[in-house]
Amino acid sequence: MDWKSKLEFTNTMSGDKQQFVPLESGSVRIYSCGPTVYDYAHIGNFRNFTFVDVLRRTLKLFGYKVIHAMNITDIDDKIIRNAQKEGVAFSSIAQRYEKAFIEDCRYLKLEPMEFYPRATEHINEMVDLVKTLIEKGYTYEADGSIYYRISRFKEYGKLSRIDKEGLKAGARVDSDEYEKGDLRDFVLWKGYRDGEPSWETAIGKGRPGWHLECSAMSSKYLGKTFDIHTGAEDLIFPHHENEIAQSEAANEQLFVKYWLHCAFLNMKTEKMSKSKGNILTVHDLSRQGQDPSAIRYFLLSVHYRKPLAYSEEAIEASKAAVLRLRGFRQRIAEIIDAGQREDGAGLGDKIAKSREEFFRALADDLNTARALGAIFEMIREINPSIESQELRTSDARAVMEFLLEFNQIAAVFEDAAEMLPEEIEELVNQRQNARSSRDFALADKIRDELRAKGIVLDDTRDGVRWRKA
Ligand SMILES: [Zn+2]
Repeated sequence: MDWKSKLEFTNTMSGDKQQFVPLESGSVRIYSCGPTVYDYAHIGNFRNFTFVDVLRRTLKLFGYKVIHAMNITDIDDKIIRNAQKEGVAFSSIAQRYEKAFIEDCRYLKLEPMEFYPRATEHINEMVDLVKTLIEKGYTYEADGSIYYRISRFKEYGKLSRIDKEGLKAGARVDSDEYEKGDLRDFVLWKGYRDGEPSWETAIGKGRPGWHLECSAMSSKYLGKTFDIHTGAEDLIFPHHENEIAQSEAANEQLFVKYWLHCAFLNMKTEKMSKSKGNILTVHDLSRQGQDPSAIRYFLLSVHYRKPLAYSEEAIEASKAAVLRLRGFRQRIAEIIDAGQREDGAGLGDKIAKSREEFFRALADDLNTARALGAIFEMIREINPSIESQELRTSDARAVMEFLLEFNQIAAVFEDAAEMLPEEIEELVNQRQNARSSRDFALADKIRDELRAKGIVLDDTRDGVRWRKA
């Protein structure tokens, strides 16, 4: 089945599910709004980043080439505020928390993207964009800053479907974040203020507003029109509305084809946020030694457009589910290892059906909850045959292939780098025993298995030594 053409996404722009057709056949260009690196990111932020990871992994599993950019906001009001509090340069705050962000991504097994552009390294691109907007008459100056006149962009509000009735001419806002009730002209370039970082540029001395960087950097790395733009749902207004206003006014062409937004993670019933003080950071989870696979599983257990509630019970349930998956895979591996057996009743149809349901669920607007259900449905179907020792080897192989596809999305099974030394030792011993009993086929098989996981065995005079390749 060609799953590529079966993908559907809920597009915030239209409000309904649409078939995904990329601009260029076979490849997808995505822009994802990234972190503002002023503090540790909380698990609510990482619900969104994990959704982005699942989107990327699904597109790849379905056979697409992915070109993906995520911005690092390394200059903004909050970074400057925290730097002033600590009495350090804004860049040292930004560097510290960018490093923490990348570590958190690695911990949660988020695949690295093609580009992570930093705002401060694209000041020229941003200035060029403002110059174009000035030339086309979309801006005005006030109090030394440059503002975007939203009444000039006729389609302003098309993504958030905002009511423009109350819009007052000349009313403006210079903070980067504001509410829908504050529908006003927004700042593109902030004029220099004493003690704040600034750049000397052709449009004056100052620093960029937050919305500007995403318009400038997305077009640099992905082109003026690209396929998918993602973000947490609180970015729909004003941030994404402002990105559209900047990019479409400057480029006079469609900015983005599909807008995908991820819902919040709640602590019990409240949205997790710094201002409410109910923060759980990924940095904390990692230091507590929590299994990242269980966190991933938990984040995947609910569809990305639905609210998800964090609780310790939910994490415990996810841990149990991950252990069950690992145990199941282990038994399947043992059946394959045990050698050829083709006498039981064939279960090929059932395995194929579960696999099809898994792909169909992902194709249906990344329904990870249903996709996980398909895996557990297969486990229920297969388990009786495992218990009665009747599972055919060919079926076990088909199950294993499906589990590997599943793991390309879920990333819950360990890979080479995560194997414990004791586990490696155990396999090395098994191989030694196989050699002693002259079972060279088994010994070679274990060696190959280890090699596939990036572990090399050296036969020395003092016995077998292993090392990571
Ligand atoms: Zn953005």
